[in-house]
Amino acid sequence: MQYSEIMIRYGELSTKGKNRMRFINKLKRNIEDVLSVYPQVQVRADRDRAHVYLHGADYKPVAESLKQVFGIQNFSPSYKIEKSTPALVAAVQELMREVYKEGMTFKISSRRSDHSFELDSRELNQRLGNAVFEAIAYAQVKMKAPDIELRVEIREEAAYLSYETIRGAGGLPVGTSGKGMLMLSGGIDSPVAGYLALKRGVDIEAVHFASPPYTSPGALKKAQDLARKLTKFGGNIQFIEVPFTEIQEEIKNKTPEAYLMTLTRRFMMRITDRIREERGGLVIVNGESLGQVASQTLESMQAINAVTTTPVIRPVVTMDKLEIIDIAEKIDTFELSIQPFEDCCTIFAPDRPKTNPKIKNVEQYEKRLDIDGLVDRAVAGIQVTEITPQVENDRVDELIEELL
Ligand code: ATP
Ligand code: MG
Repeated sequence: MQYSEIMIRYGELSTKGKNRMRFINKLKRNIEDVLSVYPQVQVRADRDRAHVYLHGADYKPVAESLKQVFGIQNFSPSYKIEKSTPALVAAVQELMREVYKEGMTFKISSRRSDHSFELDSRELNQRLGNAVFEAIAYAQVKMKAPDIELRVEIREEAAYLSYETIRGAGGLPVGTSGKGMLMLSGGIDSPVAGYLALKRGVDIEAVHFASPPYTSPGALKKAQDLARKLTKFGGNIQFIEVPFTEIQEEIKNKTPEAYLMTLTRRFMMRITDRIREERGGLVIVNGESLGQVASQTLESMQAINAVTTTPVIRPVVTMDKLEIIDIAEKIDTFELSIQPFEDCCTIFAPDRPKTNPKIKNVEQYEKRLDIDGLVDRAVAGIQVTEITPQVENDRVDELIEELL
């Protein structure tokens, strides 16, 4: 039997009161975006469920894509059946013969929104349960937590049959929480931070600081490839490259080495905040993790954060490195992140950066620099590229085949 549609149950949307329809419409658009590579697929979103009509598209890759969409609690692939008792009996028997293994328990759960159907839900449960026994005499019924729960829905247009429930990504639809600027390096932590922000509905733009010729084109490409990995969860991402060479040279030449890292980070924060303001973002997101390196002591965070009152979200701040790596592997960024490329932060990095920078000193040293001019020039020099999802290789083959 071939699946005809996927029935989607929403996540936390139900708690969102009158925003509900806005959330649902956003989720619908996000689903349509990830499924846009399957032109025949159609999406419908109602108040309490969404439906993806496959129209002949292969179920498996569509389900894989749906698993990445935030705002989906779970989903069930379903068979569309003619709305008649004999057709349902035949379908239930055929399906059970396919999936039932000896020793398993089952249950039929019927619902009907079309109340004119000849049997009510209790009668349907009975009739279809008997149909199972006619096909598999030794099958066992169990009401609580059976191995197979056959769900039958009688709707206006047809009847639907499903037995699998696949867990979705949870979270909130991307974009429903507003926009945030993700400070994206080439490391392990910031892509994970971006993923976690997307999960809570934040629409992300990636800000990346590059210091050519000290940093290579390879390092830039790595950051872009990481952003591309994140498009799987939230659609296209604006990638903003910030020219950082002049600032790093100025700091290197005019301030004490021990404060280089703190001063560099404060510039990054100021610039990201300016870009955020210009582009209508609400928060800054970064990959800082408490105590991981010198720049991530609480004293350092305080000194760096002091340049802005904008909320800075640090999704991985309390996680251990191994916990972060677990997520990086799950979202497939880990392999990319560990590729060896110089990051702008490591190029002039002192052996012993200050772990407890004093704000008084920081401000003293910054007097030697033309802060406004440096920030203005960096912001004026940004380059914005739109990062789009990569079409998987086998999908390219399929698309070519379809075209021929
Ligand atoms: P990551 O693994 O994300 O690089 P990290 O543990 O290496 O983090 P740092 O290098 O101290 O930590 O960077 C802390 C945070 O500062 C990063 O997670 C990122 O959000 C931001 N950051 C660092 N370098 C850059 C960069 N070149 N461009 C943009 N943001 C950066
Ligand atoms: Mg790093």
